[in-house]
Amino acid sequence: MDPSQHRFFSRRQFCLCCVTGVAFSATGGWLSPQQAYAEARNIVDLIRDDAAKAPIKVHKLRGNVSILEGSGGNIAVITGAEGKVFIDAGITASRPRILEAANSLGRDPIKHLINTHWHFDHTDGNQWLNQEGAAIIAHENTHKHLLVAQRVEDWDFNFPSSPLPAIPTETISSEKTLKLNGSTFHLKYYGPAHTDSDLSVAIPEADVFHYGVYPFIDYSTGGNIDGMIKAADANVAVVTDKTIVIPGHGNPVSNKAELSAYRDMLVAIRDNVAKLKRQGRSLDETIAAKPTAAFDARWGQFVITPAFFTRLVYQGV
Ligand SMILES: [Zn+2]
Repeated sequence: MDPSQHRFFSRRQFCLCCVTGVAFSATGGWLSPQQAYAEARNIVDLIRDDAAKAPIKVHKLRGNVSILEGSGGNIAVITGAEGKVFIDAGITASRPRILEAANSLGRDPIKHLINTHWHFDHTDGNQWLNQEGAAIIAHENTHKHLLVAQRVEDWDFNFPSSPLPAIPTETISSEKTLKLNGSTFHLKYYGPAHTDSDLSVAIPEADVFHYGVYPFIDYSTGGNIDGMIKAADANVAVVTDKTIVIPGHGNPVSNKAELSAYRDMLVAIRDNVAKLKRQGRSLDETIAAKPTAAFDARWGQFVITPAFFTRLVYQGV
């Protein structure tokens, strides 16, 4: 386990996008899949509880770009005279600590918020950020999903519709370029991948690339495994060895090598599961064949349990 994973564990900071992050129990032992699933049912409450007390850690990257870590997904903050730009909103319970952390970077008001996708751990704070003065930009499907109640089947969770101030005020369908604070923001839609609302944000001046997705496939709102691989391919193609990569979850300061390893993991597991399914194996038989075994040490320890991810992939191949 590398130190960043340890930090992830010790703060009990789960990500919604990888629901089986809860497979490591509070008592420090591994949960059975049934236990993990039972805990996963309450993951929204767990994340809210965690965010209510977790400190917000500030990582200064390059130029005017920083990361706030500790409230749902990683939040990028880009400072400047045109007002702070936030990429993702974190969890509402963190509001005072997020404000304090953001103020430590400069006194400019928060004027813009970009949502990388509709999931709760990236949009829960939309309302208060809008009340602070942030206009919210997101993909049109984020707008659509926040407007009405959503059920995420694999979390077994029903989300109510969002209050009006939390709804994006500007939507994009494929690409958009913004110029703010001397930085360029290239917003790009992936197509259906982790959900059907995923955007990446590239900031070429600082050579920073932010993407919100993680290895959870949300079939309830249009996700699929091939789309996730396509998105991972697109991510690898647009970054260089010098690019600072900000994933939506986990180590907030990542790189191309980790992006590539993530893509290779998705491809290998999809191919292994598809082969077993073609051979006529049932879901249980496929899980028993351990199609994720080569990746469990690195990926199956905290972000996903092997059985849960196998089940998600099996549905879609
Ligand atoms: Zn997500």
